Parts: sequence; C-alpha cells; structure tokens
Amino acid sequence: MTQYVYAFEEGQATMRALLGGKGANLAEMTRLGLPVPSGFTITTDACMEYLAANNTLTQDMLSQIETYLEDLQLRTGKSFSTGDELLLVSVRSGAAQSMPGMMDTILNLGLNDVNVERFKQMTGDGRFAYDCYRRLLQMFGNVVYDISGSYFERHLTTYKAALKVTNDQELTEADLKKIISTYKEIYQKVAKKEFPQDPQQQLLEAIEAVFSSWNNERAFVYRNLNDMSHEGGTAVNVQEMVFGNRGDTSGTGVAFTRNPATGENKLFGEYLLNAQGEDVVAGIRTPLPIATLEEAMPTVYDEFVRVADLLEDHYQDMQDIEFTIENSKLYLLQTRNGKRTAKAAFQIAVDLVNEGKLSKAEALMQIDPKSIDQLLHPSFASAALAYAELVTDVGLPASPGAATGQVYFDAAAAQEAVQRGEEVILLRQETSPEDITGMSISEAIVTSRGGMTSHAAVVARGMGVCCVVGCEQLSIDEANKCASYPNGQLKEGDLISVDGTNGAIYRGDIDKVPTEAEETFQTMMAWARELSDLKIRMNAETVNDIKTGLAFDAAGIGLVRTEHMFFKEERLREMRRFIISNRQTEQDRALGEILGYQIEDFVNIFSLTKDKPVVIRLLDPPLHEFLPHTEQDVATLALQLDVAQESLARRVSELTEVNPMLGHRGVRLAVSYPNLYLMQAEAIIRAAATVNETGVNVQPEIMIPLVGMKKELSLLREAITQHIDDLLDELNVQVDYTIGTMIELPRACLIADELVDDADFFSFGTNDLTQMTFGFSRDDAAKYINQYISDEILPLDPFQTLDVEGVGSLVKTATELARAKQPDFKLGVCGELGGDPQSIEFFHQIGLDYVSCSPYRIPIAQIAAAQSAIKYATMKEKLEV
Ligand code: ADP
Ligand code: MG
Ligand code: MG
Repeated sequence: MTQYVYAFEEGQATMRALLGGKGANLAEMTRLGLPVPSGFTITTDACMEYLAANNTLTQDMLSQIETYLEDLQLRTGKSFSTGDELLLVSVRSGAAQSMPGMMDTILNLGLNDVNVERFKQMTGDGRFAYDCYRRLLQMFGNVVYDISGSYFERHLTTYKAALKVTNDQELTEADLKKIISTYKEIYQKVAKKEFPQDPQQQLLEAIEAVFSSWNNERAFVYRNLNDMSHEGGTAVNVQEMVFGNRGDTSGTGVAFTRNPATGENKLFGEYLLNAQGEDVVAGIRTPLPIATLEEAMPTVYDEFVRVADLLEDHYQDMQDIEFTIENSKLYLLQTRNGKRTAKAAFQIAVDLVNEGKLSKAEALMQIDPKSIDQLLHPSFASAALAYAELVTDVGLPASPGAATGQVYFDAAAAQEAVQRGEEVILLRQETSPEDITGMSISEAIVTSRGGMTSHAAVVARGMGVCCVVGCEQLSIDEANKCASYPNGQLKEGDLISVDGTNGAIYRGDIDKVPTEAEETFQTMMAWARELSDLKIRMNAETVNDIKTGLAFDAAGIGLVRTEHMFFKEERLREMRRFIISNRQTEQDRALGEILGYQIEDFVNIFSLTKDKPVVIRLLDPPLHEFLPHTEQDVATLALQLDVAQESLARRVSELTEVNPMLGHRGVRLAVSYPNLYLMQAEAIIRAAATVNETGVNVQPEIMIPLVGMKKELSLLREAITQHIDDLLDELNVQVDYTIGTMIELPRACLIADELVDDADFFSFGTNDLTQMTFGFSRDDAAKYINQYISDEILPLDPFQTLDVEGVGSLVKTATELARAKQPDFKLGVCGELGGDPQSIEFFHQIGLDYVSCSPYRIPIAQIAAAQSAIKYATMKEKLEV
C-alpha cells in the first residue's frame, strides 16, 4: 500500500519531492531534536492522485489521515473535538520548490462555537480565544470557500474605525464575538455555506483546498514565470498550533541567518509581539528588527541564535527561518535555504568557502547564473543625484538596483503600460500574490507598508527586480491613482527613479553608471575559470565592448563582425562604389580606401586584446544591406559616385533579392568578389604586424562565414593563404594566423569531416543555424514563435535556448565528424546561445573548446560553464565508483 502520510519523525530533508520543501525540513528539524510542534505531512503524490481522481481523497488516503491524526492526538495528549485538552492545528501547503505566498495556510483549525468557550477557560483568556476563532474563520473562508479576504478585512477595518481603534489588540472579547457573527453572515452571503463546526470536516475540507490550490491561477502563473513544472503537486502539513498571540511574552517572526540583501554575516529578521503567523509577512503592522529581541527576551534570543547557527551549519547554506514564541518558549515552524540577491549570493558563497563550510565547487553550484544580471545592474551617478529632487528616503532597500519608470498604482495598469512600450514602476500600499505578473514586468516596486520580509520584498528579490518597501512617508491612494509625500504629489504616469540599494526615491530620470565588480565577484569568477573546461570569449568589435569583456576576463574574442565597420558614412560610400562599379580600376581604388580604414580598425582591436585569440569574421551580410533603397538615396549616391541616376537605379534593382538572408552573402560574396576577402585578410595581417611591434604576439583567427560546400572553402582558403604568404614575405615578418569557417548551414554540419581538411577551426553560428534548420526567419519569427510556445508546440524559443533535439544534434554531428578526423580540432560557438546557461551545458557536454557571447553575459556564461564542469565531473566520479 502506498504511504500517503508521514509523521515528522518519519521524514527527512532528502525527501523534498515527496514531502515538499516545508514538510521535509520540518521532519529534518524534528530529527535534529529542535523544538518543532508535532505533526504529519500528506505527500505530493497524494495531491497528484487527488487531482487526477477529479478532486477526491481516496479511501486509502482518508484512512491514513485518520491514523496519523489519532497518533498526533495521543502524542500531544490533546484531542480534536472531545476530551480535556483541545487540539488545534495549522494546515500548511508546501511544494517541492518554494513558491512564496502562492498557496495558503490555515491556522487554529479545530475551533468551533462550542469548544472556543472551552479554549477560553483553558487559557483563561477570552480575548485570545476569540481572536484565534476570528482568524480561523477568516483564513478558512478565504482558502477553502474562496471568499475574498477583502470582505473580512473591510468589515474589520470599518469596525475598528467606528471604535476609533487602530490595533487589533485593542479589540475586546465582546468586539471579537460581534465580528465573528458578522463573519458568519459573510459566509452565508458570499459562499452560501456555513462554517463547518466539525473539526474533522474542517480538516478534510482544508486538505482538499490546499491540494486544489496547486492548480489555481496564481500558482500557475508563478510556475510559468519561474520555469517550474506543473507536475509536482503540493504536500499538506498538519501541525499542532503554538500561539504567538498569547500576550506580550509571545510573538512570531521571520529571520535569515545572514543578510539576504548584502550577504553580511549577521542575523537579520523581524518579529512582532503578541501576533500570529501571517501578521509579520503580510506587512499590516510594521515589525521590529530581530536584534531588539535580545533585550525583550534574552533567553529566547540566545536560544534562537544557537538554533540559527546549528541550522546554517547543518544545511551549509543561509537559512530563512520562521518561528513563534509562546509564553517565552521558542518554536520553529519552518526553515529553508533563503532567497537572496545576487550580491548577497556571491558574498555568502565566498564567506562559506572562507569559513571552511563549503568547497569552491559547492559554492559555485549555489549561484543562479541568471541572477548575475542583477549584480551588473547600474547605480545612479552621484553627480546627477546632487541635483535630484528627493521624494522620500525613509524606505527600506529590499532589492538592489537603480530604476526609472512611470508610476502605476495597480498591476493591471502597469501591464498595459508596458505593452504600450513604457517602463513602469509599481506603487502599492502592499503587494499580494495577484500582483505577481505586474511585479515581474516592472522596473521597480515601491510599497508604503511592510518590512524586509513582506511579500513585495521577497518576491522582488526572487525576481531580481529593484524594490523599496515600507516608505511610510508615501501616502498611497490606490483608488484615486495618486500618492502624496511631505513635499508633493505623484500621479499615474509621473516619472520617478528608485534606488533599491539605499531605499531612496527621486522625481524624474537620473543618469546611471554601471556597477564596479566587487571583490567577492572577482573571487568567484576566478574560481569559475579555474573549474571550467570551456573557455569564454566575447562577441565584440567596439573599443567599449572589448574593454568590458576584458574586465570580465574574456579569454579572447569569438566574433568580430566586420560589417559593423562598413556602415560609417565614408566607408559605406566606398563599399557602394565597389559594388556598383563594373570597372576593375575603380573597384581596386574603392577597396584600397577601405583597406586603410580596416587596418586602423584591427589595430585598435589587437592593441586591446594583445596575445588573446581574436576570431574575425570576413564580410557576411547580403549585398542589399549596402545599397540605397529610396529614390532620394539613389539620387544622392549617384551624385557622390558621379554616375547617371538611371544606370545606378538599374544596377540596384539588378542586385535586389527576394530572400536576402538566403541570398548573396557570406562566402558567396567572396566567390563573386574574391578581392573583398583578400583586402580584409591583408588588413588583418598588416594590423597584426603593426601591433606585434609593441612586443605582443597577436593571434588572428580568420573566419569565412556561411560555407556550405567543400569547394567554397578550399578555393577561398587557398586564395587567402597565398595572398597572406606573399604579404608576409613582402613585409618580412611572422604572424600566427589561422583560417577557419563558421558552421551555420545544416549542410556544413553534415559534411564537417570534409570541411576540416581546409579549416584550422570551426565556430558554430547558432543564430543562422537555428534559422536555417527550422526555416524560421530570424527577423519575423517572433510573431508565431510565441504562439508555438503557448500552444506547447515548441518548449522554448530556439533563438534563446538551444533546440537540443534538432539544432543540437546537428552541432553534435559536426563535432563528432570533425573530431573523428582530427581529435584536437578547435571548436567554438559564437551565436547568441553562447550566453545561455542551458545551452552552454550542452556545448560543454559535447566537448567544445569555447563559447562566445556579448560582454555583459560573460559572467553568466562563466558560471554556467563551471557548473556544467562540476556536474559532469561528479557524474563521472559516480560512474567510476
Ligand atoms: P507560507 O508558506 O506562506 O510561509 P506557512 O505554512 O509557513 O505559510 O505559514 C505561515 C505562518 O503561519 C508561519 O510562518 C507561522 O508563523 C504560522 N504558522 C504555521 N503553522 C503554525 C503552527 N503550527 N503554529 C503557529 N503558527 C503557525
Ligand atoms: Mg502564506
Ligand atoms: Mg512559511
């Protein structure tokens, strides 16, 4: 018989797929002997079976739940509906991967109209007993009967306003009883159902609701946003209640063992006295910093510090811990590896290695390559800040970054604005899970309430979106779409700038500067290089880009696109003269002009890259890109070149192509105009010779694009080699050059074994190879690819992540064919996919030498390469054992 239920004593951390993250860790903490209230977990498998069976709990599940509930009653000496003691439980969802705030929790389950009185007698506190009951009605109504929380909130707010009280604590037992009776009316009105009085029934309905919530829209959107599978299911944890709302020696809180924003090795968190569960994270009351607990309850604080250290050592990672204090006794309710900013992730990983708790490889595995973008976020230029108009600087810096955008007060309006092409900043009193899509597309999120662990803060950090919370000086009126602050007002559409690093908000747009890479970042990158098999190069040709790539320690350049150099005005004119002209002398003169420019271009590049290898792709774009298209431009060019407008127009129309991307481009240009490539090769060699005079040894790798046939390559390689050798003789120098080809046509992949004879290296051009393999036009495919993805015809955009099945198998074939002939043959990737972590793993596994990507993606690629190497090494080790 399948086991659907596990007591906390039966589980452990490794069982997270079955017990969910929360359940597995509750079990682990129980095993470690920590003070965890007793309970049991109903498995994720039960959830998937429940959903498959049209939302019904099977007989097996029901009887196991009953057994474990009896066991829990025995163990706690409390009873669910009869007996002297009263058992109250929480019902908590928990999937294998954490989904903050996505599925809901019910507290105080087991109370009803009758036993709430007994609860009052037992605790000697009527206010407390009825507060628990009030909360149960609210959470149960919301989670199980789908009654919007705002019905209850609104009533509570009105009630408090009428009494002129602001704090829930000020409500008396009598007040709470009245509120409860209105809540029951809300049940009648909205759900047309009664609150179930039988604790067993409450429990079963709650379990079913949590299981069903796996498929609610919020959860669905969250999983899609985070590339998570819809197959896992959620577990349900049923756990004895402990009470943080029993007075001033009780409380509840959340703490991280290290600072999740900066990584600082210091306990970081918040708590509220006399409060329960969600009070802290919901951002309704502003909580106190954890450090103040040391004074308020020194013994509890010491115990907490001890437990926090123990958990961090045990999990070898920063922990995010939820706890409750009941009458000065500490209870642990949750622990998990804490979400953190990229900056904190680097700091923590490096610190853990230095503290001897992790190896370099383990530390590297902790980094999410995609989060690195965040680290490289810009910050505001200090000169610009001096003149900026401050809105407020009292907010809490919840997630770093510097962002500018137009203000919107609800998630839907923000989404619409983004669709219109605006950059937006979401301004809310507080956020809730319904806002998640709007949050993900905002440049920044600002809230007036809530602390560092509020929904907005946690979710923004996870998404890497800049975020400031708890801006108490901002009074936000969501209904009227405006906000006021001490010196002014903000309306929808106003431009503001948000600094997620210090919590300040300014009016208008403020200049930004790129961040300097920090020491921990450099350390981590050095470890990544040390452990990677793949080298990381950059795609770059401008001085700025090359400097950026070199600052990230690129191993060289994997792609210089020479056509970018042809579009400056004087050069374009000469290029056009060359194409249009029929006379050899004029063509030669044009090429001679361009040669001068190109030498200069390459000298600039080589002076920066020095001894590092540089792949230079010879001219690639279709001819039409060089030609004038409007009558006006034709007329101007005719004047410039001193030819008749008519004959020029005729020549242009002769050269026009129906499918230029499949047209006269790449090596095909050189077959028609061999002098073009000879000129470029000459420029490369002359530039290399010049720069070599400064005492370096330039490594130019000349690359011929779009080769599909053996003869194309052999013809050109021979011509270029001849030309270069003559030139070297003439100059009487040595240059270490090689000649290779780009592999970007399916045909080239299939005849790779023949192409190796005429090439010193291959570089896979994944953009064209994807285009040519799918027959998808790169420039137009976006329109239907999105539909393909939403209809699940394609799993992912193949221009962003390698299509392993099709394109990947061509790359693999070419690799195998080439290496069968020349085992050490040099292979790289220079398309967009060279910066995508998932694709990089594939390129590493098939044994390529390097990938090349845009300069800002180098750190991402480097971490991905290291992770792939580490994974692969571990796998091999396991196989050998
Ligand atoms: P989430 O996944 O949204 O964090 P949890 O299941 O962790 O939801 O519950 C939220 C909060 O409810 C917890 O942090 C804790 O404060 C409170 N809570 C849950 N179970 C109990 C319990 N058995 N006793 C007291 N408080 C609880
Ligand atoms: Mg919750
Ligand atoms: Mg929790």
